[in-house]
Amino acid sequence: MKITDIEAIVVRQEQIEMIGDGSQDTVVILVHTDKGITGIGEVDSSPYVVREIINMPASHMVCKGLKEILIGQDPFDIEVLWDKMYQESYYYGRRSAGIHAISGIEMALWDIVGKALNMPVYKLLGGAYRTEIPAYCSVLMPDNEDDIKRIIDTYMPMGFKGIKFGWGALGQSREKDISLISASRRALGKGPMLMIDIGMRWKDAKTAIQMCNLLEEYDLSWIEEPFSPDNISAYKRLASSVNMKISAGEEVGTLYEFAELLDNDCIDILQPDMSRCGGISIAKKAADIAKLKEIPVIPHAFKTGILMSASLQFIAAVKNSFVLEYCSQETVLSKNLIRHHFNIDRNGNVSIPDKPGLSIELNEEILEKYSVKI
Ligand code: MG
Repeated sequence: MKITDIEAIVVRQEQIEMIGDGSQDTVVILVHTDKGITGIGEVDSSPYVVREIINMPASHMVCKGLKEILIGQDPFDIEVLWDKMYQESYYYGRRSAGIHAISGIEMALWDIVGKALNMPVYKLLGGAYRTEIPAYCSVLMPDNEDDIKRIIDTYMPMGFKGIKFGWGALGQSREKDISLISASRRALGKGPMLMIDIGMRWKDAKTAIQMCNLLEEYDLSWIEEPFSPDNISAYKRLASSVNMKISAGEEVGTLYEFAELLDNDCIDILQPDMSRCGGISIAKKAADIAKLKEIPVIPHAFKTGILMSASLQFIAAVKNSFVLEYCSQETVLSKNLIRHHFNIDRNGNVSIPDKPGLSIELNEEILEKYSVKI
């Protein structure tokens, strides 16, 4: 089988708000082959930058567009092709947007191989440890108690095991953070999981240590991404100083960065994002390293059903995973870009799909309606 073309389709709702909501736009990756099989992927990055990285002409032997690198190659050679893309994008790539773009293509390659073999991706990753996974609701933190209560009253009756509030109004001041988090636990009651995603807004380890100690009474399952991923020393100090579990990993790309995070004992929970970290195989390798330390892996997924599908396939095949991030932002793309978006059953579980590849079908009408050409 040979790759014949790669499309990077920018999809975007009409107005983009400057909030931490990655489900307002996306870039859908389609990898076409000479056997008529098309792989689907998605990238959580700047869709426009990713599109250019894929389509651009070469400038140098280590500065090529990803499409040019892959045309004519066998999509089954996922590991070899990943390395080829990494090496031949070296000038502009290595981390961030270059790795983000590689991630979406890599995801689509797994979809192709699964479809060609008539197997779900989890089979290709070694098989399923589970057929369903509990889900938690993931939304932005509103800035007042009434909205917190309204969100909890809307989503928790659907069966979610808990809720994560992130970004949004968090990180403005110590008092505001405590008031929002205490209101969240009050509205949620005792029992359901409550998680807080600081969105990299805490700057230093001492502030974070004080805050984690103050927040202990609200029984948080974890505090997410307190610092920039560059601040390894702050992560290390925080994780070794508090009882609270610390999670991170969504901004991290390549195995080099995952190894740095894990080797330095920076976190208690690892959150790779398959549409950013280098793809499903990099996330799986990171999960294997995490397993050595019994660190659970909960993929970050705040995008559309494409990334959620990849996360479900990954979760099925990763022993040390226990819950699914279910993006509940009410954007047009979050639940409508694929047909048959995932349901939560009465017990709060989402079934792992078992159709070939990533088990997804794009909603062509939504794709066409919201795709942008410029
Ligand atoms: Mg996060």
